[in-house]
Amino acid sequence: MALLSTGEFARASGLTRKALRLYDELGLLPPARVDPGTGYRCYEPAQLERARLVAWLRQLGMPLAAIRVVLVLPSADAAAKRTLGSFLISYLSGKDIDMTAAANEPLAIRYAVRTDIGLVREDNEDAAYAGGRLLAVADGMGGHAHGEVASATVIEALRPLDVAVPSSELLNALDHAVRRAGGTLRDMAAADPSRSGMGTTLTALLWSGSQLGLVHIGDTRAYLVRDGEVFQITRDHTLVQALLDDGKITEDEVASHPKRMLLLRALDAHHDFEPDLELREAQAGDRYLLSSDGLHATVDVDAIANVLLTVADPDDAAAALIKLAIDGGGPDNVTCIVADVVAA
Ligand code: MG
Repeated sequence: MALLSTGEFARASGLTRKALRLYDELGLLPPARVDPGTGYRCYEPAQLERARLVAWLRQLGMPLAAIRVVLVLPSADAAAKRTLGSFLISYLSGKDIDMTAAANEPLAIRYAVRTDIGLVREDNEDAAYAGGRLLAVADGMGGHAHGEVASATVIEALRPLDVAVPSSELLNALDHAVRRAGGTLRDMAAADPSRSGMGTTLTALLWSGSQLGLVHIGDTRAYLVRDGEVFQITRDHTLVQALLDDGKITEDEVASHPKRMLLLRALDAHHDFEPDLELREAQAGDRYLLSSDGLHATVDVDAIANVLLTVADPDDAAAALIKLAIDGGGPDNVTCIVADVVAA
């Protein structure tokens, strides 16, 4: 469909050119295309709906910071609709409520990270990062020294995100970091063909207030403990998971399947696989576990859940999980990050 010039878009949306420029600068309504030569902005017709919403909320006198929050609310989310509805009612009736706080409850995380080489491997090809806003686990592959490089590369690409990323940018920031890491792996493989087989998995969480960005590729995992139940919130990109999804094997056959290690997606030098990206809502009281397959390939899910539900301190819980993997023979490197969400 043809793009609209700024003038056409301004007329159709009821916003002035000056307002459009401001909303672009604020990240509320970026143009679909900016001509690199002339700097002219163009918009897609599909952006009109968002522009009209902004214009309408401005007519109500809503502050830009609150409009930003409204625009990032997932439209299908019932809780988000309730928040928006109660905000609009309070706003129009003259009551003063803080929309930013309502939708973006300030939360903090208490976290611990543990990794172990295991009892069989000569190297630890897992890599991890845990900070106040970012948690990440990567499991490298590709033989001696190369797997370590691959997992460290993706962790290094993510590390700069452990700052205040706006909630509207969580998924973009994660996506860009993963693509940057993929580019680095390609450059390394081009410079040194012995590295062409290296790759890595990645599971990472990035916080902004109560919003949580999740990026995932491969068979590292994230689990959520909420209200006394444990949920696996990532899906393994493995052959056995695909066979399981198709009903071609049963849960009991996974552990003995000859190709249970085979990954269908990972970050490597040869493929442009898309990572899974998901925006989630965190709550005070949630607990997250990020772990490499050295844990779930060795320790059954009930034992993992039991530790998560019964060991209160995150560091004690991470240590207990690592011990289970070692007691199970420690055939692989194992890494665990346990993080508790608390009110800031
Ligand atoms: Mg592993």
